[in-house]
Amino acid sequence: MPEAKKRKVALMGSRSVGKSSLAIQFVQGQFVDHYEPTIENTFNKKVNLHGSEYELYLVDTAGQDEYSIMPPEYSVDVHGYVLVYSIDSMKSLEVCQTLHEKLIDLIGNNNVPIVLVGNKCDLHADRQVSSEEGRRLAAEIKAVFLETSAKNNQNVADVFHKVLSEMEKDSGTLDNG
Ligand code: GDP
Repeated sequence: MPEAKKRKVALMGSRSVGKSSLAIQFVQGQFVDHYEPTIENTFNKKVNLHGSEYELYLVDTAGQDEYSIMPPEYSVDVHGYVLVYSIDSMKSLEVCQTLHEKLIDLIGNNNVPIVLVGNKCDLHADRQVSSEEGRRLAAEIKAVFLETSAKNNQNVADVFHKVLSEMEKDSGTLDNG
């Protein structure tokens, strides 16, 4: 059996948009309804996609704001990014846009696999960001777009499958190690 391909994905976005909840829902299949600020956590999970086995490393970052300096280690060995906002916060969408600019500056190319995620889509009554606005930013930054609910486990696995699929599209330069 071929060895699992190791792929590292960073989850980025404002604090409390649900980055940890998405990672925990995907990796452990549960939703923990309390807020504990993350310093930085790594999760890993074996994922089978399109007949290939992947060892996925998720870096759950502490969260950023528009003034955050992009840590250079986020350009090293990271194969793809999940930028998360919460549909109940326009500010958190704006942070994703700023983060994307900083990320591109850091990486130095525009072809990195990105999934833009509008989380907490179960909070209908508190919605501040329409799906259309999310989709528009995704198109602008050439990202795949999804709305999710970590709480209801809606589209969560899709996020990580999509980011892996995007990586494989331009995996010519990636090794299998
Ligand atoms: P992080 O700081 O981005 O990692 O955010 P957390 O995962 O810690 O979540 C912040 C808060 O939002 C917690 O109280 C979560 O329970 C809550 N939360 C996360 N995802 C969802 C969701 O999809 N729906 C709802 N209603 N709440 C969520």
